[in-house]
Amino acid sequence: MNFKIYNTLTKEKELFQPLDDQSIKMYVCGPTVYSYAHIGNARPAVIFDTLYRLLKNIYPEVIYVRNITDVDDKINEAAKKLNKPISYITEKYTDIYHEDMRSLSVLSPNHEPRVTDNIAQIISMIQRILDNKKAYINDNHILFDITSFDQYGKLSNRDMDEMLSGARVEVAEYKKTPGDFVLWKPSNDDEPGWDSPWGFGRPGWHIECSSMVETYLGKEIDIHGGGQDLIFPHHENEIAQSCSAHNSKRYAKYWMHNGYLNMEGEKMSKSLGNIITVKELLEKYDGEVIRLALLSTHYRKPINFGESLLEQSKNILNKLYKNLNNQSYEDVVSKDVINPLLDDLNTPLAISSLLKIKCSKTLIKSANLLGLLNRTQEEWLSSNNKSTMSENDIELLIQERDRARKSKDFAKADEIRDQLDQNNVILEDIDGKTIWRVKK
Ligand SMILES: [Zn+2]
Repeated sequence: MNFKIYNTLTKEKELFQPLDDQSIKMYVCGPTVYSYAHIGNARPAVIFDTLYRLLKNIYPEVIYVRNITDVDDKINEAAKKLNKPISYITEKYTDIYHEDMRSLSVLSPNHEPRVTDNIAQIISMIQRILDNKKAYINDNHILFDITSFDQYGKLSNRDMDEMLSGARVEVAEYKKTPGDFVLWKPSNDDEPGWDSPWGFGRPGWHIECSSMVETYLGKEIDIHGGGQDLIFPHHENEIAQSCSAHNSKRYAKYWMHNGYLNMEGEKMSKSLGNIITVKELLEKYDGEVIRLALLSTHYRKPINFGESLLEQSKNILNKLYKNLNNQSYEDVVSKDVINPLLDDLNTPLAISSLLKIKCSKTLIKSANLLGLLNRTQEEWLSSNNKSTMSENDIELLIQERDRARKSKDFAKADEIRDQLDQNNVILEDIDGKTIWRVKK
């Protein structure tokens, strides 16, 4: 099998050669559960779900781990604001995340560990890093000493000066080098915390992933994935921690990162007020439409998300579901779909190949590999050709049409009927009254 992936670590497209071809090990950084997931959070989930489906198609076993970060200062803030316990926030948003992922046809990973269930393992790992003299204790904090790890900066391709000038490095008095990062920090009484050899406290973010990889997958894994924004410092720090705890040179063989998501040509940000949650999008679009839209750009490129992409994706799905009427002669995944996927997950090319498949069973099997065409044609049509107009707008247009008809302005009345028709609303005039229904 000739499967190639671009490896962020070597900056090259490489032939994928697993550590053990009987069991592939893959880890992707999961959500921090303090709020609704936005569409940018959904991109890595959908991309690595597609990779997971592809790997399962090739290898006998794939163990996929995606964590839930349920210890984080943002969670503490959200709980304080609502005056609710932290578990109220984390449970609520974990449930919502699961619902969102189901709507996007994202399969459950094999393990979905939560940080709060892994504190003992995290403490053990920190202790080993300390024993190996790669970390130090200062002012009740345990800090990783980046000067002790000579590979530091290799993944993000930065030298020490660049890393230290990075905006995400927090300067603090208790650090020997500004780039040193927290493995464990003390907690106040009103903050979540656990007893440890270094007092009551909680883990830093980076050590959580290193520890969960170790616990659920082992010391070395095949693929580690996440968004491009995680390369530095998060993934750089994961490598430093894991190699230092294990006295090893390698943590993940292949590092894969997806590009940024822009909303209507602009970066999504709080200040621009253009952050769109998955939940909001699901009110207007079918999950499958959103999934196809996310896969329509190659994962390493920035994606320009928005209405036109979603409308275009809906049209593609309409065509694909229509092609399920075709006859079937065979029942195999099309080479024209799997081959682009084997070339560093080229989903846009795979999608365009789907449109050319004539045989319906082959189409279903090939589309399923991308997590698409999971329903029957009927189910698709009944849930997707609803009107995008609100009931209120429809009623107002009908009243306007009534007035036009009363004043014998039939051109205007017909124009309104056409406008509604284009929005899938059909009018019927019965006994002087107009009723409407949505086209199926
Ligand atoms: Zn992580």
